[in-house]
Amino acid sequence: MAQPNVHPIFARESLALLEEGLESLLGRERTEVPGTRRIYVNRNLRMDQIDLVGFDMDHTLAVYSREEIEQLAFDLTVEKLVHSFGYPRALLDIRYDPTFVMRGLVIDKEHGNILKLDRFGYVGRAYHGRRRLPRAERLRLYRESKIDWKASRYAWMDTLFAMPEASIYAEAIEMLEGKYPLSYSDLYDHTRESIDTIHRDGSLKSIIQRDMGRYIERDPGLGPALHKLRSAGKRLFLLTNSLWTYTDAVMRHLLDGVLPEYPSWRNYFDFVVVGAGKPAFFERDDPFLELDAEGNVVGVARTLERGKAYQGGNLAAFERMTGFGGDRVLYVGDHIYGDILSSKKASLWRTCMIVAELEDELEHLDRHLDTLRLLASHERLRARLEDELAHQNARIAELERRMSRGEEEDAEAALQERQRRKRVVEALRRSLHRVAAEIQALSSRVEDSFNPHWGLMFKEGAETSRFGAQVEDYACLYTSRVSNFLFASPMQYFRSPRALMPHELGTDALAPFGSDQRKPGDTLRRAHGP
Ligand code: IMP
Ligand code: MG
Repeated sequence: MAQPNVHPIFARESLALLEEGLESLLGRERTEVPGTRRIYVNRNLRMDQIDLVGFDMDHTLAVYSREEIEQLAFDLTVEKLVHSFGYPRALLDIRYDPTFVMRGLVIDKEHGNILKLDRFGYVGRAYHGRRRLPRAERLRLYRESKIDWKASRYAWMDTLFAMPEASIYAEAIEMLEGKYPLSYSDLYDHTRESIDTIHRDGSLKSIIQRDMGRYIERDPGLGPALHKLRSAGKRLFLLTNSLWTYTDAVMRHLLDGVLPEYPSWRNYFDFVVVGAGKPAFFERDDPFLELDAEGNVVGVARTLERGKAYQGGNLAAFERMTGFGGDRVLYVGDHIYGDILSSKKASLWRTCMIVAELEDELEHLDRHLDTLRLLASHERLRARLEDELAHQNARIAELERRMSRGEEEDAEAALQERQRRKRVVEALRRSLHRVAAEIQALSSRVEDSFNPHWGLMFKEGAETSRFGAQVEDYACLYTSRVSNFLFASPMQYFRSPRALMPHELGTDALAPFGSDQRKPGDTLRRAHGP
């Protein structure tokens, strides 16, 4: 009788052999997505159970050329500080240094410092102006008492729009301190107000609109990625804080005419909400206002219709009027607070955070893979040396106790034994110093070459940074850009790799890789690629 047409790999019994067989089945054609373009998973998410996918616009669909927009916002803000708040003209000479800022930093308005925290609130780095605070000063200010990081004294640099804020704060202190009367707290408030004004009064946006290509990239994968989701039957919506005129201009730039099936950007989206006022959108009960083609309010909306645009609104009305809600909605945004944390708190919406910086950080880790491996093995050696040292010291203390009580029969032998152990302790100490110095040098090499002031964005020392922890805690998925959805199936089961607690990490049976073989993505945990 003829054999059924079964590929030989399915006839094999062992899964290891099946894996080998896959190689021969697929040949060279492998679905390898570069780490920089993968979608990473904190919490399992089945795309087949998502009906509606929403997008924030700025820094999410619209990828800004960071140096261009940050330089522009920096310049406009400094001008405002001088001309509206009366800061000395000398301030006009300060220069934007993009390496001096990073998402997740926090400004201490009382002391005029900028800080980077780890996930436990430990301040690992602190600057006053451009001067790095010495360790003793940093510990005195931030370790001697418990700090309420939610207090108004601290301002968080949560979004990419806030980067010029931190830079101006540091540069202004550096330039003005000692020469002009300066209140750290006023300086922050005035800077914040100036940035707020240039965003609201059109001065920033009118310049961007005049030269859209300079400030906003056109990602060729964006249209196809949205199309892929729509083809799988998902509805899409836009939910942005930008107002209509700017939204329309940016979205035209990004999507109009990209795909023949979608002549206008409007064709991609079933619901369009501008001026949403996130995070308040998720809590308040403001009505949706219907807009006409010019963006004028024509009245309060009773329904949300495809082809129309709305302003304001709120979460409960959105879910009621669209008929979609709960965990069948996926919202994609870049703002840890306004998009991710606040939607998570108020709704069951699933979330995907866009972290553009992921691309640079992953590329950097990849380039330093050998150093990272060496670091991991040195860290294991350090732990071992510390254990051995503690053991030897305990044995010496025990021996000395017995000697002092006269419990050692052969006093001479005991003395020699004590000497021998002391020599071992000395050797262990020296080795420990060497290993510790090497660990310090290697981690500085990795961190400083990424950013000489702040190190890696997702890490602070050996810990996850505060920013990294927020991404991990609040975003179900995270990835560097929306077009990465092109590499995943619209029905993808995004699976979080098995989460490991520290006690499980050393257990080969549980660890997916030996700990010295971890890949960079794994230091960020839970990589997902199709
Ligand atoms: P979204 O990210 O699409 O929700 O839109 C962000 C909007 O907030 C953009 O229109 C920005 O210009 C605006 N924006 C960012 N920072 C500030 C600010 O500090 N004050 C006022 N508007 C801001
Ligand atoms: Mg945004």
